[in-house]
Amino acid sequence: MKKNILDLSKDELAEFIIPSFRANQIYQWIYHKYVDSFSQMKNLPQDLREKLEATYTLCPLQIAKVETSSDGSKKYLFSLHDGSTIESVLLPMKKESYDQEGKLLHHTKFTICISSQVGCKIGCSFCLTAKGGFKRNLSAGEIVAQVLAIKKDNNIEQNRRVNIVYMGMGEPLDNISNVTKAVTLFADLDGLAIAPRRQTISTSGLSSQIKKLGLMDLGILLAISLHAVDDTLRAKLMPINKAYNIESIINAIREFPIDARKRVMFEYLVMKDVNDDIASAKKLVKLLDGIKAKVNLIYFNPHLGSEYARPLEKDVVAFQEYLISHGLLCTIRQSKGLDISAACGQLKEKTKMEIDNVNH
Ligand code: SAH
Ligand code: SF4
Repeated sequence: MKKNILDLSKDELAEFIIPSFRANQIYQWIYHKYVDSFSQMKNLPQDLREKLEATYTLCPLQIAKVETSSDGSKKYLFSLHDGSTIESVLLPMKKESYDQEGKLLHHTKFTICISSQVGCKIGCSFCLTAKGGFKRNLSAGEIVAQVLAIKKDNNIEQNRRVNIVYMGMGEPLDNISNVTKAVTLFADLDGLAIAPRRQTISTSGLSSQIKKLGLMDLGILLAISLHAVDDTLRAKLMPINKAYNIESIINAIREFPIDARKRVMFEYLVMKDVNDDIASAKKLVKLLDGIKAKVNLIYFNPHLGSEYARPLEKDVVAFQEYLISHGLLCTIRQSKGLDISAACGQLKEKTKMEIDNVNH
């Protein structure tokens, strides 16, 4: 089987290819000019193109399905070489705007949500990805390929800024070496040139791995999927809490290097009659005391067979108002792509159900 060239850093590529500046050229063909084949790399000698063609693939994933939501977000289901499928989402965060003369003021801002594993081991009770179990880690190149494929498919030019969130399928810190390699591959200026401060790793709270990530000091942003403020409830929602409780997560965050202008994001999935009460908001304020935090409230997105329900808007707003009035930054994540089941794992499961329905 051919190797995935996207797995290689420029330095690794330069080890095989002489002279080494060819590695820069190859990178630019792949990540700036979006070529589909080595034969299009016109400034490389013919024999090198042939050698690359014989050894490497440029495209480790294929688009299996795309769903576009009424709010403009687009959800991709990709199939990998072994038949596994993963999902990624393109989220246009801000529409482009023009001044009175029709001059472009700013471009659309994009965030791309990517997967780090096929499935997930963590087993959160509210999460559809968890129901499918765990299959394998993604390689660094398979992580990078999701962003490359989405930029290509949407004609997003090389120099347009995009943000990345590792909030698709999988637990990024359970695949820390490939994820951190992807962080640095993304950042290469001859590559996609996405700086670490534009990349957010979201974790269910593997405290020991948060510490390890902190020591690497990559400059990435961190998001913690907290979802509950006491250990009993959190362990019910997220079994990982039995190994790493809330206190251990908070301690790991206190040591985490955070850019002076940035904050750690705490994601709080609001579920009706589970964690949507003001007493929880009160505990959250206490818990985050002294931490440079930002809270993001997320409406639970129900899926077939889920035991939780979407919270009432008035309760989410009251929760937010309590946090803000007690000095915390707090946003409510607009449920982008609700009509295309944009929460983690939902497109994949839906597609499986549709396929099952066809097969039966
Ligand atoms: N494993 C990592 C990153 C992927 S999950 C983590 O848990 O942080 C990304 C986010 O999707 C998490 O915050 C998770 O809580 C959220 N999510 C999972 N199921 C959801 C659902 N049904 N509705 C809304 N958000 C959901
Ligand atoms: Fe895994 Fe995150 Fe889903 Fe939990 S919420 S099962 S950690 S993907």
